[in-house]
Amino acid sequence: MRLDDQQLRLEGVYRQNEQGEYMQRVKLAGGVLSVAQARALADLGSRFGSGTFHLSTRGSVEFHGLLAEDLPHVHRGLAAVGLFSRGACGGAVRGISCSSSFGPGYGRTQVMLRHFLNHFSGNPHFEGLPKKFKIAFEAGYERSRHLIQDLAFVLVEEAGEESRYDIWIAGGLGREPQAGFLYADRVLEAELLSIAESIVEVYKVWGDKGRRLKHLLNAVGEDELRDRIEQRRQNKQPTAFNDAFPKALVPAEGSQRIALNIFAGELPALNLALISDLAAGHDSHWLLVTPDQNIELLLEGTIAPLKKALSQAGFGFVANGCALRICPGSHECRMGLSATRDLASRLQGEFGSLLSARSLAISGCRNSCAQPHLAEFGIIASKLKREGEQRIPLFDLYRKQGKDLGLIVAKELTEDELLNRLGDLLRK
Ligand code: SF4
Repeated sequence: MRLDDQQLRLEGVYRQNEQGEYMQRVKLAGGVLSVAQARALADLGSRFGSGTFHLSTRGSVEFHGLLAEDLPHVHRGLAAVGLFSRGACGGAVRGISCSSSFGPGYGRTQVMLRHFLNHFSGNPHFEGLPKKFKIAFEAGYERSRHLIQDLAFVLVEEAGEESRYDIWIAGGLGREPQAGFLYADRVLEAELLSIAESIVEVYKVWGDKGRRLKHLLNAVGEDELRDRIEQRRQNKQPTAFNDAFPKALVPAEGSQRIALNIFAGELPALNLALISDLAAGHDSHWLLVTPDQNIELLLEGTIAPLKKALSQAGFGFVANGCALRICPGSHECRMGLSATRDLASRLQGEFGSLLSARSLAISGCRNSCAQPHLAEFGIIASKLKREGEQRIPLFDLYRKQGKDLGLIVAKELTEDELLNRLGDLLRK
């Protein structure tokens, strides 16, 4: 069966390799899924694909190694539990992320994020975009994720429908990383949708094919971009989301979180099934795919019995505060220049406790899916060097010290040189 690549992407599917395998990305609202959805996903993952999920830094879940004939079965299985993938890849509004975990402000951002995800996903007015369009709702500035979105809403005052947000636009990583700029501050919630629609429409009309919103900004300048957005907005009304009752997934008083360490976000389907079953058996109803590619469980009441059960089943917990993000690299991605997971294992073996409470991100190419510019130490496989028949990856090393994107500190290092340089920085 030969499938059209562009249409596949809109369904959240990429051609993974030349052997005819596919990657299927599933949109989750800010990384959240119910225990029942997780169990259904695990069943699908056991039947189709490689048997291991990849958890992305934007809170999505990816199947790898699917065959063309698997795709309809996977889509039906997802739909059966209210999961979907429309717009998860290609020129569309992608999954809407939130890096604020189950912390303060999370409930409000979840409500808004779900409204926006429903509004933009599968809506033909907002498909056929020049390239991807990434939106995030953040409950604060802590992780700097607002800098790398096409459109980010940062909650700055929580007051129900009177909540206010700062709006940042035109950021993005990839080959030409660029921080977004503050488009407007302290905007009322009812104004957000009209602004979002206007920005996406401007991008759809004036963006160049294959280039993100940041390139339109660079081409026309900030003033002109603002003018075009505001012209679109003139015809739109404020839109309040008047819910009949509180819908926020606000952790109940006294709720506790368990953070499971999932190395490189590689989660076997059987393990997801186990986590779901143990969670369900201990009255835990929600799972969260975190921006550091781990799984968090939310539990009302005492966590000790569930933690013990998870530990006995062989799961480890996020313990030393090390935030490690790793893209699939050449293990599974055809863009990958380096075996990212192998490199991460080597770094962990080499540096051990030096990585405690540090953040480290490794991307297998300049597309920067692991968000290396937002980690304290970011590594990008930037080039392949030929040595006879061999191709040796070379790495760029980034360092983030303030609130802005990380900056490059060393270019085109071999793996050994990278370890030396990183070791020096970690020991300082
Ligand atoms: S950063 Fe590159 S290698 Fe890694 S997942 Fe993204 S495209 Fe693939």
